[in-house]
Amino acid sequence: MVISVASGKGGTGKTLVATSLALALSSKGKVQLLDCDVEEPNAHIFLHSTINQNQPVFIPIPKVDETKCTYCGKCAEVCAYNAIAVVKEKVLIFPELCHGCGACSYLCPESAITEEGKEIGVVERGNSGNVEFIQGKLTIGEIAAPAIIREVKKYIDPINTIIIDVSPGTSCPVVEAVKDSDFCLLVTEPTPFGLNDLSLAVEVTRKLEIPCGVVINRVEVGDEKVERYCHEQDIPILLKIPLERKIAELYSKGIPLIEGMPEWREAFLELFQQIQQNAKRKANSKS
Ligand code: SF4
Ligand code: SF4
Repeated sequence: MVISVASGKGGTGKTLVATSLALALSSKGKVQLLDCDVEEPNAHIFLHSTINQNQPVFIPIPKVDETKCTYCGKCAEVCAYNAIAVVKEKVLIFPELCHGCGACSYLCPESAITEEGKEIGVVERGNSGNVEFIQGKLTIGEIAAPAIIREVKKYIDPINTIIIDVSPGTSCPVVEAVKDSDFCLLVTEPTPFGLNDLSLAVEVTRKLEIPCGVVINRVEVGDEKVERYCHEQDIPILLKIPLERKIAELYSKGIPLIEGMPEWREAFLELFQQIQQNAKRKANSKS
């Protein structure tokens, strides 16, 4: 089962939930934790994992053979990222904007474009007890996060339980990380910002047709509006985490919640059961 852990907004405790869920489940069987927050991966801080494999990630960048090029402009026309421009008798390529989608080389009528690899980051693999840990790291200044996320997800072995730590927000890297999940856990806090970003994240999961449930963190900081929204939208609230000094201290020291406060282990095992039940219910209602 693939469970993605996302949040419309940063700083809601998404990694706290993802790592504690992975560690709780690892007492029952093999778990893979994929850190797909590739611009700022931080699950390794909590897992204390040993990295034993390191794989660079490349994307194909176009290279134009000017002897074949007729300067028709088709490549610039099809590039959705403004990474290629044709100016008089010159084709300009902006590698820092290129997503390596290949559209320009595929559609060039003269077959004047070949591709060369450009390194944009790395995928690292390691272990922490019964948790296999895989993280993507995008090189600073690069923008093609989805390409790294795709590489991280290639290591998914469906016989395991898979937890994906997704980047905050609702943009392309989030969609890339969440798509094909069996369930998406949305971590939020009960504030107006939390509610606004949660509703955007819910829209993404609905577009992707992935069942979702909510974890409310720091439950005492705000008001009832997040809970009311969840009830109105028929979204299950699967776990509430209180605003407690000890939890914040553990987080700031990089100690997983279920290690610093083992009494939480059962709550995360129960959370997994609820995820399974909700995913099953949704699947049955579709068939
Ligand atoms: S599409 Fe091909 S032929 Fe046309 S300008 Fe681009 S590289 Fe040159
Ligand atoms: S590979 Fe895609 S993103 Fe890069 S220049 Fe070509 S069309 Fe644009």
